[in-house]
Amino acid sequence: MSVASEQHGEAPVAGAESTTRRPALSPSRASDFKQCPLLYRLRVVDQIPETPSRVMVRGTVVHAVLERLFQLPAPQRVPAAAAALVEPAWQDLIEAEPALAAMFDGDPAELTRWLASARELLAGYFELEDPRLLAPQACELRVEAQIVPDGGDEPVLLRGYIDRLDVARTGEIRIVDYKTGAAPREVGEARALFQMKFYAVVLWRTRGVVPRQLRLIYLFDRQLLTYAPDETELIRFERTLAAIWAAIMRAARTGDFRPNRSRMCDYCDFRPLCPEFGGTPPPYPGWPTSGAAAPDPGRETALDRAD
Ligand code: SF4
Repeated sequence: MSVASEQHGEAPVAGAESTTRRPALSPSRASDFKQCPLLYRLRVVDQIPETPSRVMVRGTVVHAVLERLFQLPAPQRVPAAAAALVEPAWQDLIEAEPALAAMFDGDPAELTRWLASARELLAGYFELEDPRLLAPQACELRVEAQIVPDGGDEPVLLRGYIDRLDVARTGEIRIVDYKTGAAPREVGEARALFQMKFYAVVLWRTRGVVPRQLRLIYLFDRQLLTYAPDETELIRFERTLAAIWAAIMRAARTGDFRPNRSRMCDYCDFRPLCPEFGGTPPPYPGWPTSGAAAPDPGRETALDRAD
């Protein structure tokens, strides 16, 4: 490892991140490539706009509320306070990304229902944890670490945003991630664990400590999933990440981004362009390596993470 950094603050909303940042692998984009190389290409290289669903945007609002909840003094972290933060979080989001307001154009009753459903998710959170008893070290923590693969391959920069980081007095680390989507857990669970192991590798390389626990909080079905990684597993996982990066770089050179049909196609905006569904993707535009058009292969926004 030769680079590691951490930075607090909200993840950028869609479209708000600089394109000049050093390319890195993020959990969302690594999962995309693993799931379907063509999906990755159309999203990252072609940068074809996608329509965020109401569920994704609601997830972004709920994540923002939970971050702000932990900025309040501990005794004030009660359900009513979380409910009161929903509307301001939505207003801030549409100020940063005005196009999102169009989701409810002409349908104020639907907006009211949608905001109520965000409050309902937050009410579920309080059944799983009592935030008055927690003292997170950080929320929305941006982390980076560089890993050096075996065999002299290029170093790989890993980058991600951790929803919440709890550190015990003993130094033990717990990584916490909130899941707000309504998709069946079995569909997203492998992806969620991949994401958590990704963060575990970055923190291990940044701080020299293997996180004690990875905690996934499923707000929709009000359940917790916990997992304890070990060092051997993280070493193996690091190799997996390096192999994914190498595969992305190979595909970038050759343009060979194959479709991979799966249950996740149900959630893919690119079906009309996908050969698996009778479509034709646009010609491969190549992989610009410099300038404003250069894709960041790990670009990740708050909307990406609000699943
Ligand atoms: S529809 Fe399925 S196979 Fe086609 S690009 Fe999307 S995820 Fe890949």
